[in-house]
Amino acid sequence: MQDQLSGLPVQQLLDRIHADLNADQAGEVADYIPELAAVDPDLFGIALVTLDGKVYQSGDSRHLFTIQSVSKPLTFGLALSEQGAATVERHVGVEPTGDAFNSISLEPHSGRPMNPMVNAGAIATTGLIKGATVTERFQRILECFSAYAGRPLTMNEAVYRSEKDTGHRNRAIAHLLRNFDMLTEDPEPDLDLYFRQCSVEVTCRDLAVIAATLANYGANPITGVEVIKLNDVEKLLSVMSSCGMYDYSGRWIYDVGLPAKSGVGGGIMAVLPGQFGLAVFSPRLDRWGNSVRGIQVCEALSRNFHLHMFRGLRSGSNVIRAKYDASMISSRRNRLPRIEKLLETHGNQTTVYELQGDLLIGTTEYVTREVIRAIDQSSTIVLDLRRVMEIDLAASQLSLIHI
Ligand code: GLN
Repeated sequence: MQDQLSGLPVQQLLDRIHADLNADQAGEVADYIPELAAVDPDLFGIALVTLDGKVYQSGDSRHLFTIQSVSKPLTFGLALSEQGAATVERHVGVEPTGDAFNSISLEPHSGRPMNPMVNAGAIATTGLIKGATVTERFQRILECFSAYAGRPLTMNEAVYRSEKDTGHRNRAIAHLLRNFDMLTEDPEPDLDLYFRQCSVEVTCRDLAVIAATLANYGANPITGVEVIKLNDVEKLLSVMSSCGMYDYSGRWIYDVGLPAKSGVGGGIMAVLPGQFGLAVFSPRLDRWGNSVRGIQVCEALSRNFHLHMFRGLRSGSNVIRAKYDASMISSRRNRLPRIEKLLETHGNQTTVYELQGDLLIGTTEYVTREVIRAIDQSSTIVLDLRRVMEIDLAASQLSLIHI
């Protein structure tokens, strides 16, 4: 399949961006544990997965690295599905911190961590994953991550050991969370689980499939498996948008406009809802702990192809493809004389609207306004929906209210 895709424009584009940025050596690899410090800093992979499951890859997209903080939104999603939003939100907020990913800051009175994308919030979220033992709970996390990636993932034992042996700052955070009852039992097993989830190995391709699953509103576009419910996807993409790139999140969403998550292993995944998932792997990090070339790839793609999610919103006016009265309809079909007569006398009081595209809240609002205006001059309104792809439930309520 890869060979067939190699001549396609998107493949050429990814290869060109890869070639353009390949020589950039800015940034430093994470060095807080020996396993990360030893990673080849020149590794560089890009992958893009469409919602019909096409995989485009460039460079070192098949190289394994640890998922690190890209795990955080996935565990947040799992906690939401296991515990429900109310319980999860009692243990973690959804406000950006403006602080570093490992900052020791909790909400002043409640002691609740600010959001699930910084370590404090992620450890509190991991603490909510159900199961009798750490092994059982990790199995649930691993199964969940594997369903996102569409293949069985495993953990890098050496990275896990090092994370656990040296993670004193995370340990301090966990004990602080215990103090405020954000973790309700001994914090060590929860911490252990957090270190394990950070040490799961993925490729850049895996991250792009995970991102595409989120872009596909929760169903893996390759396996078809529903990994997360649409309601939870919405919550997860929201915190990725506001907090996914730590204290660079504001600039990121302003410039790139895609919900995203980075990890100190060098991975970044970005989601264009309804369109595709994108991932970059490049281990040199900036001072915020985000991959330098990862950001550059996403910026280049977003700039050149207007991927900013707020660009995707189109006006509703082109949803009406044509408007005419029924007397103007010609047909090769032989009509009964009775019908012919009916059309002749009443045809000009019957207005036909040919609609196209998606009937979302904005487009439906426009259609209802148009139709209400036409009601005065017409005895019958016909909505031709043959070219409508999707009718949003909320939008259908709107049309019921008005007509
Ligand atoms: N294991 C890392 C930590 O907890 C993950 C941080 C990250 O990827 N930003 O410090």
